[in-house]
Amino acid sequence: MEAILNQHVLVLNRLWQAVNICSARRAVTLLYQGHAQVVENTEGAFQTLNFDQWSDVSRQYHGDDVVTTITFKMRVPKVILLLFFDRLPKKEIKFTRHNIFERDNHTCQYCGGKFDRKDMNLDHVVPRDRGGATTWENIVCSCIECNSRKANRTPAEAGMRLMRKPVRPKWRPLLQMHFARRGEDSWKHFLDFSYWHVELTD
Ligand SMILES: [Zn+2]
Repeated sequence: MEAILNQHVLVLNRLWQAVNICSARRAVTLLYQGHAQVVENTEGAFQTLNFDQWSDVSRQYHGDDVVTTITFKMRVPKVILLLFFDRLPKKEIKFTRHNIFERDNHTCQYCGGKFDRKDMNLDHVVPRDRGGATTWENIVCSCIECNSRKANRTPAEAGMRLMRKPVRPKWRPLLQMHFARRGEDSWKHFLDFSYWHVELTD
């Protein structure tokens, strides 16, 4: 029972965007309180069911992933839809090596070549000892060759050009990064959808 209560459930906001993952325990509570509905894929169409409707459906179900209490037996949902809270949780993209490589698509920002991470450096566009900051706007991926050619100079001094101005990424480190691979099939539609359609803000 404990393991079942900790199963992961994908949470959608009212715009059907994937915003979170919660435990089955929390999902059932949200359903019970009327704050969420279950999203079921029935013959290719998505249907939402409230607590009572989902309880009815659960009666016909004979799998193991079921929460049972004195008053009800309920199949653990895979996806729930929140009926409140429109906004995505505000999350800053972390300024990490990983995310810089992701932003620059493993492409040297000077020569445009694609490389493995191990064959690349993070380059300070304006060198550090010339006051260049370690920020999204001053760090780019660079291949080792370009990096040593540029050395301790600005791109202009080295006669090199950036392919594009480095900026803080607009995408969010949403869920698909961590969950797409191990996630449920039933999540895929929403994770893909969110990836492409989520509103981008700073
Ligand atoms: Zn290069």
